[in-house]
Amino acid sequence: MNLTRRTLLQSAAAGLAAVTLPHRVWASTRIDMGAMQVDTLLDGHLTLPPDFIFGPMPKDQLAPVLAQHGIGSGPLTPDCNVTLMRDGTNTVLFDAGSGPAFQQTAGKLGGALDAAGLTPDDITHVVFTHCHPDHLWGVLDDFDDPMFPQATHMMGRAEWDYWFDPATADTIQPERTTMAVGARRRMEILEDSVTLFDAGDEILPGVAAHASHGHTPGHMSFELRAGSNGVLVVGDAIGNHHVGFARPGWISGSDQDGETAAATRRRLLDQITADDMALIGYHLPEGGFGRAERDGDGYRFVPGAG
Ligand SMILES: [Zn+2]
Repeated sequence: MNLTRRTLLQSAAAGLAAVTLPHRVWASTRIDMGAMQVDTLLDGHLTLPPDFIFGPMPKDQLAPVLAQHGIGSGPLTPDCNVTLMRDGTNTVLFDAGSGPAFQQTAGKLGGALDAAGLTPDDITHVVFTHCHPDHLWGVLDDFDDPMFPQATHMMGRAEWDYWFDPATADTIQPERTTMAVGARRRMEILEDSVTLFDAGDEILPGVAAHASHGHTPGHMSFELRAGSNGVLVVGDAIGNHHVGFARPGWISGSDQDGETAAATRRRLLDQITADDMALIGYHLPEGGFGRAERDGDGYRFVPGAG
């Protein structure tokens, strides 16, 4: 084997993961939709202070929802599920994971791909839901080389325009300045290999882009469809399996525009339940696959790929 910067890094990353995360396995949960095969690959998990999500929520009404889901007062540790779609021609990732520079417990996509029998060179397209670090930063390796050198990178036009604008670092909430600077730096490297699309476009065969703005200004979700089978890749438009489903109308601290994100969440859940669609959430448990069921005034996440 030729040792390149890339293979050297992957070997190191795989070794590190084996040492520091012995209790985690690479999740690969699969649904087959005719010619289309959809898996999710675990990039690891984040560690977040609870108020990152719960800060704006009414504490008295929040407590019973959290108790129902067994969530205590400690840090939240949501998984990060990168969707992989293969149709025999295209091998497509939806988001790129965190990469080496965000949080130590994330950025493990290289190992997950390896476990799935793929290398980064096999990826033909990387399609982004949005530009937050846990979705975008994995697009470059430790040396700032593209992690997926053969891939076309695809992003919604509104999302690209927002984060590529140098003024965003000054206008974004101060606690998110690092995100803006980090996104812009990576996008400069991707600029020559990116394809932009708009809501409603069929961006690849069987893949339609739907606007799901609010979490970020140009956040996109993707409907994957093969015949009568469909699954909606919602990214962070429904960002967790507890309050995101039980109280979708509440403002979440994790969303940049809370009001718009809440309206989007309600609309998506209404559509998903009305159409009885499967969904994949980037930060949902058990590989992120599941369905939504109505539950009182809200909804409930039902995990599973069936
Ligand atoms: Zn995220």
